[in-house]
Amino acid sequence: MKCPVCKQEMKKVRWEITSNLKPADSYKEYDKTKYECKDDEVMVITEIPIVKTVEPEQPK
Ligand SMILES: [Zn+2]
Repeated sequence: MKCPVCKQEMKKVRWEITSNLKPADSYKEYDKTKYECKDDEVMVITEIPIVKTVEPEQPK
């Protein structure tokens, strides 16, 4: 993630998993990352949906 002001690589300051708090059928989790450029006091937060790989059902 580049700083939009100075174009330098920003520092990753926080990372967490968030969710949209919806019921199971539309429930989604997000990979939330916060980047910061201290020199410009710029903060960028990205929230990228986590794509879960669906495993094929095993016959019992
Ligand atoms: Zn900057």
